Amino acid sequence: MVDNTYQLAIVGLGGMGNWHREIIETIDGIEVCCSFDIKEERQQFARDHGITPYNSFEELLADEKVDIVLCATPNDSHKEIVIRALRAGKHVVCEKPVTLNSKDLQDMIDAAEETGKLFTVHQNRRWDEDFLTVKKIYEENMLGDIFRIESRVHGSRGIPGEWRQLPEHGGGMVLDWGVHILDQALMMIPYKVKSVYATFTHVTNELVDDGFTVVLTFENGLEYLVEVGTSNFINLPRWYVLGQNGTAIVKDWDLSGQIVRVTDWSKNDAVPIRTAAGLTKTMAPRTEDTIKTEPLPIVRSDIRGYYRNVMAAIEGKEEIIVKLPEVMRVMKLMEAIFEAAEKEQIIPFEYDLNS
Ligand code: NAD
Repeated sequence: MVDNTYQLAIVGLGGMGNWHREIIETIDGIEVCCSFDIKEERQQFARDHGITPYNSFEELLADEKVDIVLCATPNDSHKEIVIRALRAGKHVVCEKPVTLNSKDLQDMIDAAEETGKLFTVHQNRRWDEDFLTVKKIYEENMLGDIFRIESRVHGSRGIPGEWRQLPEHGGGMVLDWGVHILDQALMMIPYKVKSVYATFTHVTNELVDDGFTVVLTFENGLEYLVEVGTSNFINLPRWYVLGQNGTAIVKDWDLSGQIVRVTDWSKNDAVPIRTAAGLTKTMAPRTEDTIKTEPLPIVRSDIRGYYRNVMAAIEGKEEIIVKLPEVMRVMKLMEAIFEAAEKEQIIPFEYDLNS
């Protein structure tokens, strides 16, 4: 600490490391003091932005004023960096995915327990407003009993960068975007996942999944589809939520969308729709007098709450929001997804957060 301000060191000052730098600049009580990156260009970037770039990770760890280490390097290097930082007496924030498998994660958790230092993961998409809005719709039962949720992120640029394309660096979309939107599913639905089914795509990359579709079945029967695509030139909506009395759609991160609810079940008769080859009453749209269209109940958030919570948790004033058992649960879920895709089978899933 310097002048009651937490000193944070960034290991891996690339795209995301710099995002943390920019956010931390806007938060009272914490500042980025130093960094280490294996690329000289990023060391220079640190100098240009008033941050001390250490010549090695060891030198950074030896700096006694560093309270918190942020690990924002490629996924395969998180384990070693986190464990060494904890053992050097630092609190640690690690980028997602925390690591590549549950065994490595357990070693990291053990190191945190041995040292008594705070260790948490940057599951920042728990603060996404589209997610918080759908969570509100779910929690407030705004559509009646929700029986299906579809959560998708679609892009059309394949897998970006170099290391994300390689299995040895923990590449692929399950570990990249999957960990975010699976974590969202587990944080929204207060029931256990019963089973998992998954298929992967390899449109632009043979080595790692460049997209996937996962179906989670929760113990209350709710079916939750999670999909990531990187060859989608037309996007499907970010969220599609089906309840017994209504449907919600969130089209994009700009929170455009709506809710349509049934107001009158009694007027169920429909004028049949004629298609080129036939007639359907079942698929005829509802008449306006039996439904109501409403705006989404937008929930606003402030991502700076992430680091404010980290500081309060270090001081024992708040519980940490991103808890290690939750991080382990999503890691085990991703392992079940890899197994389901490989075996082409529905895989039973069991994980007790309190175990
Ligand atoms: P990046 O390639 O832009 O940056 C990684 C940086 O780490 C590079 O500058 C590289 O030189 C450096 N580096 C590599 N190995 C190192 C080591 N051993 N020691 C020090 N520096 C090292 O990648 P990125 O997009 O910033 O991703 C970094 C991490 O952040 C990944 O784990 C990724 O999954 C995560 N990420 C999270 C989010 C989010 O929203 N939470 C978004 C993007 C990336």
